Amino acid sequence: MKLRILISNDDGIYSPGILSLAKAAAHFGEVLIVAPDVEQSSMGQAITSSRPLRYKRTPIDNFEAYRVNGTPADCVALGIYQWKRVDLVLSGINLGVNLGNACWHSGTLAAAKQAALLGIRGIALSTSVLDGDPDFDALQPCVCEVLSLLIPERRMPLINVNIPAKSRGIRWTRQAVQQYDGRAVRGKDPLKRPIYWFTIKGLKDEEKGTDRWAFMNHWVSITPLRLDLTDEKELARSMARNNQVMTNNGSTDSQKTERVRRSRPRKQTLSTRRRPKVMLAIR
Ligand code: MN
Repeated sequence: MKLRILISNDDGIYSPGILSLAKAAAHFGEVLIVAPDVEQSSMGQAITSSRPLRYKRTPIDNFEAYRVNGTPADCVALGIYQWKRVDLVLSGINLGVNLGNACWHSGTLAAAKQAALLGIRGIALSTSVLDGDPDFDALQPCVCEVLSLLIPERRMPLINVNIPAKSRGIRWTRQAVQQYDGRAVRGKDPLKRPIYWFTIKGLKDEEKGTDRWAFMNHWVSITPLRLDLTDEKELARSMARNNQVMTNNGSTDSQKTERVRRSRPRKQTLSTRRRPKVMLAIR
């Protein structure tokens, strides 16, 4: 049976990157494009829950395509719902790389993640725009090589691929998470009022074996990802510690102390009255 490949992106349906990806994917199966009607870069995995979604048919070249008034995650969810049987979701090719902690913001990767959440394999592909507009025709052989390598890897639910303009070959990598390049920068509007840009600063000292390291050294970076964010080491450590102080009725010592404290009536004074909690949400 022919592979059914749904294609989305975060740059919008008219991006040259999505057409390039559709052309490469057509060598491997049947292709359907469902993508945002306008650019949705850095939207992460937002979904539209406060208004309805609509889609309109927008054939691109010879590809059946639909544009959606929503986010990349919306497009993938809607595409999977409408097309019934989808075997693989490809997202991209993004105009700009998605390396390291940028993965938290990436709409390109989020489209692939949305597929993985729905039980379908997702692969995100991004390329560099550092040297100007990408030459997608020149990238075709590399994209086809990556797809022929990854499509048989059925055990990988989610994969992040970053392709330099000119590559020396392919490297399997881990996500670089030790550094973060996002920051807010203050500027002024024409009336001299303060404005702020959330932007990125260049990073140095990329850790060997990471996606950033591979990209900086002109390798195609392929990172297998997982949806489970649990910190296994900390979980194991906390469980080992808490299990030692478990009491017979299954509660921990700290829970027991809390119950005793609550059962004791106490006159409320100004100092014991609950003060409102201040939540620090801004990093
Ligand atoms: Mn983008």
